[in-house]
Amino acid sequence: MRDWLIGVAVALVVFLAVIGINVLPVLLLLAVGFAIYTLMERRQMMAPTGSKEAAVRHAINFDHIGGQDHAKRELMEALDFLRYREKIRSLGIRPLKGILLTGPPGTGKTLMAKAAATYTDSAFISASGSEFVEMYVGVGAQRVRDIFRRARQSARKEGKDSAIVFIDEIDVVGGKRGAHSHQEYDQTLNQLLTEMDGMQTTQSPMVLVIAATNRSDILDSALLRPGRFDRQIRVDLPDKEGRLHILRIQTKDKPLDEDVDLEHISRETYGFSGAQLESLCNEAAIIALRDNSSRITQAYFRDAVDKVLMGEKTGRHPTNDELYRVAVHELGHAIASEMMRSYSVSHITIAPRGNALGFVRQIPETDGYLYTKEQLDQQIVVALGGAVAESLVFHNRSTGAQNDFLQASRIARTEVMCGLSRIGIVAEEHLPEGILDEEVRFILSEIEHRTHEELLPFAEELRTYAEYVVATESIDGDIFRDWLNRCKESSVITRENPSSKVEQIAN
Ligand code: ADP
Ligand code: MG
Ligand code: ZN
Repeated sequence: MRDWLIGVAVALVVFLAVIGINVLPVLLLLAVGFAIYTLMERRQMMAPTGSKEAAVRHAINFDHIGGQDHAKRELMEALDFLRYREKIRSLGIRPLKGILLTGPPGTGKTLMAKAAATYTDSAFISASGSEFVEMYVGVGAQRVRDIFRRARQSARKEGKDSAIVFIDEIDVVGGKRGAHSHQEYDQTLNQLLTEMDGMQTTQSPMVLVIAATNRSDILDSALLRPGRFDRQIRVDLPDKEGRLHILRIQTKDKPLDEDVDLEHISRETYGFSGAQLESLCNEAAIIALRDNSSRITQAYFRDAVDKVLMGEKTGRHPTNDELYRVAVHELGHAIASEMMRSYSVSHITIAPRGNALGFVRQIPETDGYLYTKEQLDQQIVVALGGAVAESLVFHNRSTGAQNDFLQASRIARTEVMCGLSRIGIVAEEHLPEGILDEEVRFILSEIEHRTHEELLPFAEELRTYAEYVVATESIDGDIFRDWLNRCKESSVITRENPSSKVEQIAN
C-alpha cells in the first residue's frame, strides 16, 4: 500500500514537472503528508498493547502442551472449521467465530491459543482484557477495533488467510453489562460483539477470536450466544498423568540424574498447575546450579517442590525452643497422617519457608473428586495433629496452629453442608449460622478427642525424636516411618492401644 502510494506520487511529480508546472509546493505538501503518515504509523505500532503482541511466528504447537488431552482434542476439532473453510462454506455452515477457554491460571490456555495459531497456520495477535480498560470512555472500543484491524493486517503481511485474536482475561471487559458503574466496560464489550458479528466466512483473511478466563460465570450472556463464543472448552488442572506429561516436556532439555523419578514427582505435586510444574523444573535446575552440580537430582526436585509450594527459605532464625516446638508440632501432623494412611508422609521439615515455620508434605493418595465422611474426618485429624502434639508435650499450645484450625473448620463445614454431619441433610440457604457453627464445633471437638487418642501412645518417644528433627532439620518419609514402626512395636507391648481400628489401618 505504502510503496504503491509513493510510486504514484513520484509519477505525479514527474508528470507535473514535465508539463511545466512549478512542482515545489506540491513537493512540500507531499513531504508534510509523508511525515504525518509515518508518525501515525509509529504511534499505531506502539499504541494499545505494545510489545506483547509481536506478530512473530509462534512455533508453539500442541506437542508442547502436556496433559489436557480432552481440551486439546476439542480445540483441534473446533479449529478444523478454519482448516477446512472451503468445505464448511460449501455446506453453508455458520462460521465459528469465538472459542472460550476457561480454567484456573497457569493451566496452558495461552499455550493452547498459540498452538491453535500454528495448527491453523494463522497470524497470532494477543491482548489482555485489562489493557482495554482505560479512564477515558471510548478508548477501549477503539483498541478493540485496532486489534481486529491489526490481526487482518499482519495475516496479510505474513501471507496467511486467517488470523487468531487471543484475548486473555476476557472477564475484565466481558463481565455482565451494567454491572459496573463505568460505561467504558460496556462500550468495549459492545465493540467486541460488533466486531464478531461483522465477521464472515467469505472475508479474507478470516479472523477467529480465542478468549481465556477463569471466571466464565461472570461473563455477559451476550458473549456466549451462538455466533459469538459458541465453543467453550474447559482447561483444568492436570491430573497425575497430565502432570507427568508436563514434567517430561519441561525437563526435556535438562540434565537429569538417573535417580530422578518423574512419576514420583507427579504423584507428589497434586494440585499443581502447568505453570507451577514449569517453575518447579526451573527451580530444581537453579538449586543444582547453586550447588555446583552438573545434574539435577531427585533431592533438588524435592527442595524445589517445597519452594514452589511454600516460597523461598526465609532468613528467619527461630530460637531453639521455638524450633523444638515446631518439630513437635510437625511430627504431630506426620504421625496423624501416617496413622490415617500408611505411606502418606513424603517428608517433614522445620526450615522456615514463606509464612510457615515448618511443614509436612503428604503424598496424595489419588486425584480424587469425591470424599467420604471418613476421609474428611481423617483430614481433620491430620490438621489437628500439630496442636494436639503440642499439648501432649508442653501441656499448652501456640499460635502456630492458626492455619490448621482454619483448615479443619473448613473441612468440618463441608461435612455439614454435604449432609454428612449429625444433623443430616441440610439446605445451605435455610441453615441458620448458629446451628452451622454449633455443628462445626461439635465435629471439631469430637475429632480433637480422637486425634488425642491417636497420638497419646507416641507422646514419650515424640519428645526425644523431636530433638533429632531439630538437629537434622528435615526428615525423609521413609526414615520417619522406620521410627514410627519401632514406636508402634514397643507401644503394643508396653501399653494397651487406645484404638484397635487404628491398628488395622496402620498395619
Ligand atoms: P494460562 O494462560 O492458562 O494462565 P499459560 O499458558 O500462560 O497458562 O502457562 C504458563 C506457562 O506454564 C507456560 O508458558 C508453560 O511453560 C507452562 N504450562 C502451563 N500449562 C502447561 C501444559 N499443559 N503443558 C506444558 N507447559 C505448561
Ligand atoms: Mg495466560
Ligand atoms: Zn500445623
